[in-house]
Amino acid sequence: MTGPAAGVATGSHDPANYIRQRDSRAGEGQARDLSYPPLPSPLTVGCYDNHTHLEIADGDDPLDYRQQLDLASSVGIRGVVQVGGDLESSRWSAEMASREPRMLAAVAIHPNEAPGYAASGTLDAALAEIDELAARPRVRAIGETGLDYFRTPESGRAAQHRSFEAHIAIAKKHDLAMQIHDRDAHEAVLETLLRVGAPARTVFHCFSGDAAMARVCADNGWYLSFAGTVTFKNAHNLREALTIIPRERILVETDAPFLTPEPYRGRPNSPYLIPLTLRFMADHLDTEVSMLAAQISSNTEAVYGSWNAEPVRQPGGVSPWDAAVDPAEIA
Ligand SMILES: [Zn+2]
Repeated sequence: MTGPAAGVATGSHDPANYIRQRDSRAGEGQARDLSYPPLPSPLTVGCYDNHTHLEIADGDDPLDYRQQLDLASSVGIRGVVQVGGDLESSRWSAEMASREPRMLAAVAIHPNEAPGYAASGTLDAALAEIDELAARPRVRAIGETGLDYFRTPESGRAAQHRSFEAHIAIAKKHDLAMQIHDRDAHEAVLETLLRVGAPARTVFHCFSGDAAMARVCADNGWYLSFAGTVTFKNAHNLREALTIIPRERILVETDAPFLTPEPYRGRPNSPYLIPLTLRFMADHLDTEVSMLAAQISSNTEAVYGSWNAEPVRQPGGVSPWDAAVDPAEIA
């Protein structure tokens, strides 16, 4: 690891430790800076990353999940919620969480994946497997599920709605938290939650609404998780929402490798960059970083429970749920 000025040194990585590569081009196809940002100065009070995808490699020399967790620990990040978006990444998330004490898992079929499963007639089978994975002790949330009217055309919306409501039922059945992906579908997401009833611990991952929506969430006791987008110049709506939602309902996340906070927008994101977003939020709320970190840590544990509750499987060791899943299936 070299000095703070330079990017984080990458090195030998184990390709078995991630299952897909992020597109190296940015949205409009222009080249991205693929170097990892430098380490921020460590937090004095630890915190958590509410939402990350360590199974997706990014950068010109990707860090694997262990390297990312080691770097995160070195700046005060106690743990992450590793989030699946299809069967493969949900299995990976559940399995890695069973081995890694700094990781808890969320499993689900992403709203942009649901139409594909429905089209191939495999959505019900996929939902049944998510229901099975939800029973694993270090799976603590159903997510990311929800609605996305930005990427999915009209033709795929019926499948998204069916999938969303099925995931709400699975979260309630297992008394798990739920992480919502909502892109350009605020009204439909709120309508669904108010009609079918939201799970007790409902989190809007990478909140993208405005002040009015934040008030509805506050009235219903739902959590808002803020990503690096809150640091973006034009994100006035997010900063307003941040001041509206009660402190007890605030979480912070990366959605890594995506949504890297300023001043490193477009470069690979990682849980070790949480301190940047947290400091920005504390500054905007005019509060001490350590106070906000302590508050968000207790909020995070209130939603997902303790990271130390269940033992992880020791390398080569056996665990109560070993019989349930054959790791060979994971790869
Ligand atoms: Zn995500």
